[in-house]
Amino acid sequence: MVESDRRKFLKSLAGLSGLAASAVPGLTSAKTAAGVQVKDIRLSKNKNYVRLVFDLDKIADHSLFALQGPDRVVLDVKNAKMPHGMVDRVQANSLIRSIRSGVRNDKDLRVVFDLSEEVSPRSFLLAPSGKSGHRLVIDLHGKKDKTKAAKKKSKRDVIIAIDAGHGGKDPGATGRSGTHEKIVTLQIAKRLEKDINAQRGMKAVLVRKNDRYMRLRDRIHKARDHHADMMISLHADSFPDPRARGSSIYALSVDGATSETARMLAEKENAADILFGDVDLAVEDQMVKEVLFDLSLTGTIESSLDIGSEILGQLKTVNRVHKKKVQQAGFAVLKAPNIPSVLLETAFISNPREEKNLRSAAHQKKISKAITRGVNKYFSRKAPPGTWLASSECEYAVCQGDNVAKIADKYDVNESDLRARNSLYADNLLAGQVIKIPVS
Ligand SMILES: [Zn+2]
Repeated sequence: MVESDRRKFLKSLAGLSGLAASAVPGLTSAKTAAGVQVKDIRLSKNKNYVRLVFDLDKIADHSLFALQGPDRVVLDVKNAKMPHGMVDRVQANSLIRSIRSGVRNDKDLRVVFDLSEEVSPRSFLLAPSGKSGHRLVIDLHGKKDKTKAAKKKSKRDVIIAIDAGHGGKDPGATGRSGTHEKIVTLQIAKRLEKDINAQRGMKAVLVRKNDRYMRLRDRIHKARDHHADMMISLHADSFPDPRARGSSIYALSVDGATSETARMLAEKENAADILFGDVDLAVEDQMVKEVLFDLSLTGTIESSLDIGSEILGQLKTVNRVHKKKVQQAGFAVLKAPNIPSVLLETAFISNPREEKNLRSAAHQKKISKAITRGVNKYFSRKAPPGTWLASSECEYAVCQGDNVAKIADKYDVNESDLRARNSLYADNLLAGQVIKIPVS
């Protein structure tokens, strides 16, 4: 690394770590402000990195950078003190050969980690929680592990099956200007596919990609084949009175589910496979199977209602809502055991104004974006285990003066990932609010 490169490198690191001075004005401007006290240092070794936790008595303004030849990492904490000899308590290990500390500018603390190899350093602050107070966390990721870590990180995406209603010989409802439901549902489905795929950790699967007829049961099978975590079926409503308008969302009702269970159970042969493919049922008794199946389905219905109300909440911002709550009904397409499913009546195609909206690219985009936000909100709370969204992440306590872009920059993560992970659709972060930093 030549000198100018190094300077560039240090500059970029300075941008990544350390709070902006404005975040903690008291610490940087007032000399009289009481300094930060380091109360303890703890070290833990993880598979791919070494973590050092500095227990502090208050929030600290810090910066972190790496130097080479020899490899070392330098931590500067503004206006801070550490008891003499505290660093000696931290045991050397295969990565950290030694730790030194000193005073800079009469009042700042500098800690230098001498390392046995090059690392990617990362730092973040944790707000007090439980027994722990303010913490400054330094993670030193060994670069040797990089390739291994990159291979290992392939956590799966959350799969969203998008089902455009009707198709082919079944045009669905037709508006007064001749708009077919099957056409607008496919257009919205394709927009939604793009929007979902733009979200990190999510993948969309289109149940039908073109204007073709598909049986309801084949739609469910397609979602199952792709191991969908949820299915959204897009439709447009129709009513004799052209004044009827607005969006509605349906989830499956327990009654509908129960009768469907009975019907499916009546089918012999692979009925059990269809029903119980995802449910581990090591029982022969038909009655027990039925009860267990109902229980698992009820859980799915709860998730469906939950997803439905998140989507409805977002749709409210772009379209009038026909019914304020998620409705429950027995649509066949919703009867996918173990896949939470919702059916969305985007608008009334029988209402001339809404028909026009349904054809409009701008309105379709708005609907798609609203659905995406709703889906995101749900999965940021309830990410299925094993998915990238459910993978462990760092937490960060928001400081005054922070905004989403600043934090994204600080942790070198994509701003839209950060927003998606925390369902941040506005910029009004509150100081002290804890947000999740996705692990890249
Ligand atoms: Zn329909």
